[in-house]
Amino acid sequence: MKFENLDILKLDRRTFLKVAAAMGASAFLGTYKADIVRAIAEADRNIVWLHGSECTGCSISFLNAEHPDVIQAVTKLNVMIQYHETIMAQQGLFVDGAAVKDAALNANYALEHFLDSGKPFILVVEGCVPQGPEGTGDYCKIAGKPFLDEVKHAAEKALITVAIGTCAAYGGIPATPPNPTDAAGLQFLKTTKGGVLGAGYKSKAGLPVINIPGCPAHPDWVLLTLAAAILEKVPADFLDKYQRPKPFFPPAYTIHENCPRRGFYDRGELDTEYAGGKCLWKLGCRAPVTHSDCPLRLWNDGHNMCTQAGAPCIGCVEPMFPDGTLAEEIEKIPTLVGVDINTIAKVAVGAAAIGVGAHAVRRIAMKEE
Ligand code: SF4
Ligand code: SF4
Repeated sequence: MKFENLDILKLDRRTFLKVAAAMGASAFLGTYKADIVRAIAEADRNIVWLHGSECTGCSISFLNAEHPDVIQAVTKLNVMIQYHETIMAQQGLFVDGAAVKDAALNANYALEHFLDSGKPFILVVEGCVPQGPEGTGDYCKIAGKPFLDEVKHAAEKALITVAIGTCAAYGGIPATPPNPTDAAGLQFLKTTKGGVLGAGYKSKAGLPVINIPGCPAHPDWVLLTLAAAILEKVPADFLDKYQRPKPFFPPAYTIHENCPRRGFYDRGELDTEYAGGKCLWKLGCRAPVTHSDCPLRLWNDGHNMCTQAGAPCIGCVEPMFPDGTLAEEIEKIPTLVGVDINTIAKVAVGAAAIGVGAHAVRRIAMKEE
């Protein structure tokens, strides 16, 4: 499909993200660099990127983006990253235990200064938000201030708020029971809407938190969503019920539909040990209940993805991740035709013996249900 002749700035919001998702970060940012830079220069866009309770894996994934890399992307997007703990140079100067109140010497002071300046900015949050003990947020502090307070303060002023990674979106690993720090995502705790900002939160652009889950999030998802957010091309109805952009997390299909091992599943050839090279469902593959474009977009600069590499999908983009059942076989799998995989596998084994093809297997299985 050719997109080069489109005037990207004139596209409606819906079409914009579809085109961005279809092209991939490199082609999209390369093709529309001049338009994007012009639009952002006029709008004076800034990014504030805060880190909570997390492993920094999403930043590392983002920094490992290759085409474009982050330097190219930031240049192409023409944004000012005002605050990012992993990549900013100065961290803060303390004298006699007190932070120096000078924006040139103290990043957190500079951050407060920026947040109070009234300039429009995109808030990116990576990591979940511990609320304990007893609602104080003291389990996670930055420069002596609870991260809980900092996130609420910044979110109040943000033009658009984006949660990067499953921790920031839904709580992820730190919020998994027993959740000792009472951690939550920005607007969800697992599948329950609310989180630390509350179910009714809207940024200044009138949008709920845009969730880019993943453990880590794919750099394309981050770059393309930030490009859309910076250009104010994210309509509210473009998010699914868990507030993920539908072009990257399609509600209508799962990873399983496009898995490179799908042929083995259709023939009922299911591995029971690793490195068997066939379908990974019996080893706990969660792709049949996981919505993302991993098999189409691929990872590591378009080279591979989990099931292709032989690792069962662990459903890292879903709100319940990790739900305590990793590596356990999913008993009932919804499929496009509504047939349980156990039925398919049972019929397929018999059908293989008499040389019946995959389509016939599905037809027979449907009648057996
Ligand atoms: S169950 Fe997993 S490995 Fe098997 S076809 Fe589906 S996605 Fe691929
Ligand atoms: S294939 Fe599954 S586990 Fe792997 S990155 Fe995609 S959603 Fe996450």
